[in-house]
Amino acid sequence: MLDKVVIANRGEIALRILRACHALGIRTVAVHSTVDRNLKHVAMADESVCIGPAPSSESYLNMASIIAAAEVTDAQAIHPGYGFLSENADFAERVEQSGFVFIGPRAETIRLMGDKVEAIRAMKDAGVPCVPGSGGPLGDDNAANIKIAREIGYPIIVKAAGGGGGRGMRVVHTEAHLNAAIQTTKSEAKAAFGNDMVYMEKFLENPRHVEIQVLADGQGNAIHLGERDCSMQRRHQKVVEEAPAPGITPEQRAQIGKVCVEACIRIGYRGAGTFEFLYENGRFYFIEMNTRIQVEHPVTELVTGIDLVREQLMIAAGRKLSIKQEDVVLEGHAIECRINAEDPETFMPCPGPINHFHAPGGPGVRVDSHIYEGYRVPPNYDSMIGKLIVHGPDRETAIARMRVALSEMVVDGIKTNIPLQQRILSDAGFQQGGMNIHYLEKRLKEQKEKTIAIV
Ligand code: ADP
Repeated sequence: MLDKVVIANRGEIALRILRACHALGIRTVAVHSTVDRNLKHVAMADESVCIGPAPSSESYLNMASIIAAAEVTDAQAIHPGYGFLSENADFAERVEQSGFVFIGPRAETIRLMGDKVEAIRAMKDAGVPCVPGSGGPLGDDNAANIKIAREIGYPIIVKAAGGGGGRGMRVVHTEAHLNAAIQTTKSEAKAAFGNDMVYMEKFLENPRHVEIQVLADGQGNAIHLGERDCSMQRRHQKVVEEAPAPGITPEQRAQIGKVCVEACIRIGYRGAGTFEFLYENGRFYFIEMNTRIQVEHPVTELVTGIDLVREQLMIAAGRKLSIKQEDVVLEGHAIECRINAEDPETFMPCPGPINHFHAPGGPGVRVDSHIYEGYRVPPNYDSMIGKLIVHGPDRETAIARMRVALSEMVVDGIKTNIPLQQRILSDAGFQQGGMNIHYLEKRLKEQKEKTIAIV
């Protein structure tokens, strides 16, 4: 087993990783920026190292500082969490070259999945269903691009090969706008990602976001842990996630899961990973693979009983996967609400001091959060201050438990999106289940118009 791990992240996920390490008897090193000295996991870690000032570019994205922290503390491995350097192939490479274990896939796998054109090509070759598209980067020949778009059929979406975070995409409804859209997306992609390669896909109009969780040991063994539905999104950011996805049959799950497992084995995947799909009219279309632990991993943990971060650590220690596909049994239903320090109406971030905090509890309630009374949410990072996750024997019970838990939760001093989460949980469409990725924004727009009309 590993004996000491550097946690190269902050907030709730750093605490989550620390808990998994300590449960396995692994010692921990917290690395933090100057404004993050008071983070909960920093106090709980066996050792801590300040790696730089508040801006993440100088701390949590500072590869040399993080690797130096591993050196001075004589750690063995580095867990990148999510965000920051978690999907940076150069970081994974430097970690390994410095003699440490990177808790994640091999650098070349991260690199492959970071290039969406290459990732789609690899997945297609592995038999994963993809969105009909150009099957490669677009050239400068306008006539050729028009031909590709006609074959796919409008509307289409032009996407940057190096894009991420919902940026670098443009929907085109008619041929007249195609070439201008390609040019604009290219120049934006060049500016944002330093790579002007773009490709084309069919734009699916009303899909759901359904993703498959996998675990692979890089030694020829892989399993899937079912799916999550993350269709409740605002500006491509997930707000509520659940497992299993409403309406997905055990046969569909087994079939798409098997395809993902086979793809993992084929590419020699190692660690935890997620295949993201758009799901429309009963069919799955691969869009990208995330080569890290995800924010919404707890819903999968609650329905499978499998501790995903523990498994990441075991795999990084060189162990073979000890769970077999037939051991993965889904029980009940789990829902996660992301709790953000933001105005529930305007969505503006609201950093500041937490004067009073009360965490909900009761059967099937889990709170993954680093906040405590007296903690000050810094303005420098993502506004997520925790996750509220519930589990119940069925979806209806899970919804009921989440509504009670949200009503119990008190975070005083700053504004949070708890009122928004309460509105979502009591919404008839959400309660029915299976809404598409545009549903939340559509409902928010309707409510805003209604409020304005009343005023
Ligand atoms: P990113 O890496 O920036 O998150 P993705 O490829 O995962 O990019 O796409 C982000 C989001 O954009 C998807 O969740 C979906 O809402 C939308 N999207 C992407 N591709 C398509 C498509 N072909 N049709 C419809 N919507 C799409």
